[in-house]
This record gives sequence, structure tokens and C-alpha cells, in this order.
Amino acid sequence: MLTTSIILQTKDRGEADEFVVFLSKDLGRLAGIAKNAKRSRIRFAGHLEPLSLVELLVRMRRKDDLVWIDESQVLDGHLNLRNSIQKIAWARYFGELISVFVPDAHPEPPLFEFFKSFLNEMDTSDLTPVQLIIEELRLLGILGYAPRFDACPVCGEAIAPGEHAHFSVYSGGTCHEKCLTPTDGITVNLSPGTLAVARRVLTLDRKAAARFRLHPQGLHELRTALSAFVKHLRGGQINSLVFMEKMQLP
Ligand SMILES: [Zn+2]
Repeated sequence: MLTTSIILQTKDRGEADEFVVFLSKDLGRLAGIAKNAKRSRIRFAGHLEPLSLVELLVRMRRKDDLVWIDESQVLDGHLNLRNSIQKIAWARYFGELISVFVPDAHPEPPLFEFFKSFLNEMDTSDLTPVQLIIEELRLLGILGYAPRFDACPVCGEAIAPGEHAHFSVYSGGTCHEKCLTPTDGITVNLSPGTLAVARRVLTLDRKAAARFRLHPQGLHELRTALSAFVKHLRGGQINSLVFMEKMQLP
């Protein structure tokens, strides 16, 4: 069948074949083998690039969960995005979150539409650091891991305006100081101003969120909290996040 997909990852497999992980609009996240992809310019034409929006012709294999990829055609290669290492890093980070947290062969049209529109946005405009964090929060929400900023996940009560909050990776949200326990493990302080912005921007669309600014300390707090949160969810390292941290990308 033909299916619109976004390539998440590719790996050489022998001399001529390529192993490809992709997110299909109709089939969900899948892995497949593109036979002779590196040789057949007619069927693939070097089109199996991570982050490209493609049309794939796929066929189920009997023996395992992999599919055969017989042909591919690029719909959007996101060439502008590829000129910026920061944009590539963010897009690959989102792709890795999808690879890691989405079960195999489980179609999720809202997730596909989100990632497609995010890549298009990254390709055609420059998102501010606040906007990028909002996109990350939206993605986590679609994946079923929305962190909570409105009420304390332990006691259920709101965090009062002006009150310092502690982001607990274990509880998945901002808690009152009194609600933290030693088992919470990693916690990150969120100052009242940072918390207010995090709450406010989540109610806005992409355009309106562009007008919001956050001071470097606030961005740092949110980044630290979210990085610790996704690592906790993963139970290990997220490679693209390590890269972003090493490069000190905003
Ligand atoms: Zn509480």
C-alpha cells in the first residue's frame, strides 16, 4: 500500500539495503527494509532522508514485524530546516521521542499531523525558544505524558500565584514543597514567573505564543525540568538531547 510517512531514522544494512524507521499516517510507527535503496535511483532516488515527508510503497513481510519498502517519493524534504544545526537537532529530538514512546504499528493520526506541521513550521519560520518548549509540551501531551503545571499532582490543589513550585519528574508535574517526598528523586525549582508563563503559553496557539518571552533563567528551569522528565520516562538517555546539551543549543 501507499502511505504518507515521515522518515525518523535510517541505517545502512549491508552494501545496498537500508533499514528505515518511519512514522506512517495510516500504519503508525514502523521499521522496514528498503531493498537496494542505495542503488536504485529510480525507485528511491536517495530519498530516504530522516525528517523528510515521503510517500512510501510498503508491503508486509510474513516472517517478522518489519515491512518491505518498495518505492519512495519525496513530498517535502524540508531543505531549509537542514541548513540549521539547531533546527535539525530539535526535529531529531522530536523524532527520537516518537521512536521511543510510540508502540509499533499503532496509527495515531493526531501525532502524525502534529509532527508534519511542526516540521513544516521549522522549515518555513524561526520558532522562539519559548515556542519550541511549547511544541515539546504539546508533543508530550499527544504521547500521553503531559506534565502538569496547573495543580499539584500529589494533593490536587492549585499552586498559588507567587508560590515557588518544584517540578517532580516522578509525579510528572509541579508540586508544592510540602508535598515532595524523598522518593521523588530529581526535582527542579520553578520560580513563580516561569510557572506563570508555562501555564499561560499552553493555552495559546503557535502565533500568539511567539509574542511571549522568558528570561534565560526561566528557560533554563523549564529545559532542566523537561530534560529530566523525558529521561525519567525513558528510563535512560535520549541521544539527541545529549547532543543538544553538548552543543548548548537553545
Ligand atoms: Zn501539593
